[in-house]
Amino acid sequence: MCGIVGFIGKEEAAPILLDGLARLEYRGYDSAGVAVFDGKRLKVAKAKGRLQVLSDMIQAGAAIHGTLGIGHTRWATHGAPSDVNSHPQVSRSGRIAVVHNGIIENYAELKAFLQEQGVPFTSDTDTEVVAQLIEYFYETDQVGILEAVGRCLRRIEGAYALGIICADAPDEIIAVRKDSPLILG
Ligand code: GLU
Repeated sequence: MCGIVGFIGKEEAAPILLDGLARLEYRGYDSAGVAVFDGKRLKVAKAKGRLQVLSDMIQAGAAIHGTLGIGHTRWATHGAPSDVNSHPQVSRSGRIAVVHNGIIENYAELKAFLQEQGVPFTSDTDTEVVAQLIEYFYETDQVGILEAVGRCLRRIEGAYALGIICADAPDEIIAVRKDSPLILG
């Protein structure tokens, strides 16, 4: 079972995300990652292996600045454990990042649809479909990020908890759950 965590507030997000992920380590995982909005863009760091590998990569969080972020420890179901399949999964433009606990049952047909629209995929995960589909609605339908997420949710099937951030909405985390636990605090 994976773990997801998000933070928005006044403090630096990255160390808090790492601490949250450490508390979720007991659930088991094969890789870990974070995405933090640095004031201009989403900075993503992720790595196969122990949380310590990620923590060393970003100097215990000191290497990434920003007060909004999401983090993940992955238990692979779709795509081998690898750096590229680790979460957060990011949309084509890099402006939308998603962490996900669970399975998107109909990811294959949605991926085929998006590929027909010319959307390139970089991972083997079902989760990347969520990031790319949100961006598809965000750009094609010219709606806000919350509405784009809503349109995506009406298309995906499965059980999931999701944490979503968008570089154009640096004061919000979108949290979603269906048949998977998620706590707001
Ligand atoms: N199905 C997703 C994946 O394989 C999420 C797995 C998880 O819950 O960690 O990347």
